[in-house]
Amino acid sequence: EKTALASLIHEPSLTKDGRKIEIAANIGSPLDADAAIAVGAEGIGLFRTEFLYMNRSSLPDEEEQFEAYRTAVERMSPKPVVIRTLDIGGDKSLPYLPMDPEMNPFLGHRAIRLCLERPDLFRPQIRAILRAGEYGNVHMMFPMVATMTELRQAKEMVDEEKAKLRTEGTPFSDHIPVGIMVEIPSTALIADQLAKEADFFSIGTNDLIQYTLACDRMNEKISHLYQPFHPAVLRLIQMTADAAHRENKWVGVCGEMAGDVQAIPLLVGLGIDELSMSASSVLKARHLVQGMDYVELRELARNALQLDTQEEVLRLLERSRRNRN
Ligand code: PEP
Ligand code: MG
Repeated sequence: EKTALASLIHEPSLTKDGRKIEIAANIGSPLDADAAIAVGAEGIGLFRTEFLYMNRSSLPDEEEQFEAYRTAVERMSPKPVVIRTLDIGGDKSLPYLPMDPEMNPFLGHRAIRLCLERPDLFRPQIRAILRAGEYGNVHMMFPMVATMTELRQAKEMVDEEKAKLRTEGTPFSDHIPVGIMVEIPSTALIADQLAKEADFFSIGTNDLIQYTLACDRMNEKISHLYQPFHPAVLRLIQMTADAAHRENKWVGVCGEMAGDVQAIPLLVGLGIDELSMSASSVLKARHLVQGMDYVELRELARNALQLDTQEEVLRLLERSRRNRN
């Protein structure tokens, strides 16, 4: 099976009836790009940049960030690299960035909320990403966007930094798509509006599930409620995908669900264009996609959306898997 999968490294990820699914990898450091290339990932769908900020005593400056992004981008070029801006807060804190204690850190001052208030932190990262755009196919993505205003404010900062770079004569790419993660129910619910101003969506199912079911993703006591296949989660994914496509934008999934063989047929059937996962799952996912018919998966997704519970959805997926084999 291993050698059979290895033969897929250089193949495109097409369903039997010809629908193209981008199978990309998630990385946490520039060096991880090598593992993504080794398995033939079609891009980096999520570059978590927190690593650059952690395990150190001061903020990384623009130059250091630029070098890290450039390394990843050059290695992957011409394939796309989606660089996510800092997603700190929640469970992740930095020693040199003191934060007030919060009653509910996952509902608190984190990610884009923090970045918008800390231009000293956010602007150097934006500049580093814009500059790395000169070396390949870069996308910029904001985490934990909950409102249109946040997207607009972040994009305004991007425009301001572009203007500064231009004035300074510093090379950068002016054509970097700017998208958002969909990981809060409010975001999925206004995806039709956000799709007019975001260049793409990537659904962060890890957080989307946690916020939809009000279920802490780390709390073992309530793990039975952490339901990736809950009909509410599926509806939010569907709304997001449909909203993106109506504006001719692409939509990916970069949470754990994207690499789950049970979830992949359903996600493809819901219209997801890109799946970003750990490099170790890429070939299995490609093999799976190549064995499926998109038309049948559309029907599967339609049927799943009619069901009442996660258990019913899982039974449907299991029946459909047996029919394919
Ligand atoms: C997610 O929430 O699904 C996601 C990909 O982001 P993270 O796991 O880094 O919160
Ligand atoms: Mg998240």
